[in-house]
Amino acid sequence: MDIDGLLERSELHAILSCIADGVIVTDKKGKLFHLSSAAEKMLGIEKSEVIGRSISIPRLLGQKTPPLKSLLVCWKTRDCKFLECPVHGQNDSRCWTSLGTFCGGKTQKTFQDKLNCCPDCEIYQVNSEILKEPLRTLVEEVTIEKPTRKVFKVKTSPALDKEGNPLGYVRTIHDITLEKEVDLMKSEFISTVSHEFRIPLTSIKGYVDLMLEGDAGDINETQQEFLAIVKKNSDRLINLINDFLDISRIESGRIQFKMVSLNIGEVIEEVITSFGELMERKGMILNLSIPEGLPQVRADHDRIIQVLNNLVSNAIKYTDAGGKITVAVGQDGNHLVISVSDTGLGISPEDQRNLFDKFYRVDSTLTQEIGGSGLGLSICKTIVERHDGDIWVNSEAGKGSTFSFSLPVFKKAKRPRPKLIKQGMRILVVDDEPDIANLIQVYLQKEGYYVIKAFDGEEALELARKEKPDLITLDIMMEGMDGFEVLRRLKADSSTASIPVVVISAILDEEKGYRLGAADYLAKSIDEDKLTYTINRLLGRVDEGRKKVLIVDDDQDIVAFLATSLERKGFTVLKAYDGDEGIRVAKSEVPDLMLLDLRMPNVNGYQVIEVLKKHDKTSQIPIIVMTAYDFDESKTEILNLTAEQLSKPFSMRILTSKIRDLMRERQSRGDR
Ligand code: ADP
Repeated sequence: MDIDGLLERSELHAILSCIADGVIVTDKKGKLFHLSSAAEKMLGIEKSEVIGRSISIPRLLGQKTPPLKSLLVCWKTRDCKFLECPVHGQNDSRCWTSLGTFCGGKTQKTFQDKLNCCPDCEIYQVNSEILKEPLRTLVEEVTIEKPTRKVFKVKTSPALDKEGNPLGYVRTIHDITLEKEVDLMKSEFISTVSHEFRIPLTSIKGYVDLMLEGDAGDINETQQEFLAIVKKNSDRLINLINDFLDISRIESGRIQFKMVSLNIGEVIEEVITSFGELMERKGMILNLSIPEGLPQVRADHDRIIQVLNNLVSNAIKYTDAGGKITVAVGQDGNHLVISVSDTGLGISPEDQRNLFDKFYRVDSTLTQEIGGSGLGLSICKTIVERHDGDIWVNSEAGKGSTFSFSLPVFKKAKRPRPKLIKQGMRILVVDDEPDIANLIQVYLQKEGYYVIKAFDGEEALELARKEKPDLITLDIMMEGMDGFEVLRRLKADSSTASIPVVVISAILDEEKGYRLGAADYLAKSIDEDKLTYTINRLLGRVDEGRKKVLIVDDDQDIVAFLATSLERKGFTVLKAYDGDEGIRVAKSEVPDLMLLDLRMPNVNGYQVIEVLKKHDKTSQIPIIVMTAYDFDESKTEILNLTAEQLSKPFSMRILTSKIRDLMRERQSRGDR
């Protein structure tokens, strides 16, 4: 029986016309046999105009030319979620990618040739005419612009006879315009509210940090404990708001992905460094397995940082103190696979199925105690899929988890990892915890120092005598000979006595340290700024003139907390409370760096940048822009003139490290 035979029965017609969704029935080749009255109304076409004609569905739905993407869909790749044609590979000109993008020639004939080249892919749709039937319902979203903008959800299912042979196709069309509008309004609402929350939170976080660091005078233990709770919860709120914003931005397409060629090893190191302190506090062991000579990937740097941050922070969060975390990279064909493994809670098979859904959190007391929004993994999934990659989990409850994601390899470049500049100064780092020694090494290498490591007292003394380093950092609590004894022996030996020693220890016995001859005494956990500042100062690498930073922001609370924090770090601070004043101060004082808010009344941040970059005197001042709102995409050219862009609220640690990097860069260029 044919599909028209099937439709001859008037009861069936009657039933089809009662369905509220539009119904379109075609034969195998796309010839139209039935268009329900609801479909007529939705699409604004007359049944008599189209019945019996082979009219393509996109044209029926008002699309002028079907986009190239819909020319061809490889069923097998789509179904299996392979990232490329299993036979010819993604970039073979004979084939096409999983998204259905036709990578070959444009004409039908060429297409047919190519089609024949790939017997392994089951092709079912060309120019919307069915060649081979889809085996299950296919769901698509179609937008028409005329006469009014409408969005439809179109479901295509095969109509089969009793023996299961395909007769044709039934498409149902459901109008989702209103849902889409509500979705957009919802995401705009979330975006506005979240942005407004970020401004007061910048001050709350800033001042709590200052109080905790002792800038408002001494605080007792109870006050410290209470403030730590405020800090923890404001950080939680900030994370939640950032997650909301990310979801709404990504879903509404407001985030433009800047695809560049990336060295994934460097990106991983960047992420791991930022977690060093937290891992150290939890006594966790970190394993990195990044083989040399990996190809670069094609990805958006900030978004991949976001994915890795989320996976690593989850691994730390959901693993007990003392656990092990491994970050590994491997190559699988045209993709690099990055995996983050932990020895933590693990996840049951049922939970694994829903893990990447929005707001899904494993329902256990422990997870509830740890806290979180359940949005992180769903953001990761969206980001990875926008890169044409995949994300998955392998886990066993109680034994730990491995989250992996794949990214396509960047075809052209194979850039060697840039070597770190050694400036001739050598530092011996002594710590029996390899992870801490590695962390200190990362901080010091960033400053251009060459690092030698010793993991116990004996080795430290031997290396100090043999290598004569310019400085030694020394842990106190070590197995065998402790740090105080090492210090005493170093100072007693004439060949090592003059080497400055910086003690870095959780044991706060500064008096003893100084008595034994330490040049400085730093407390663990390690503050990168304090460490590098102290070492640079001891090795005579600190500019005597204090660097001037100009802060321009109309929010007085934010200016005050930034000023206090930066003054503490040794900067001279200039302040301005609107764009005009900012320009005036920048011209008269020519600061070494400027922190600039973008949204200000009258003269806004974008205008300030334009003015300053035009004047010789001020054009070289590095500008860090900060905003609680989205960066204005139409102002990208202006933003490109700035050195860094930060979203409020940000951590002072990140800000100061960016400031120092920029100052260092300027100094090495000899700008000032
Ligand atoms: P959040 O951690 O903020 O709750 P995510 O989307 O990042 O949100 O994670 C969703 C859920 O997946 C978490 O609540 C947790 O139950 C589980 N999960 C994620 N990563 C791990 C992990 N490494 N080990 C165990 N469970 C995890």
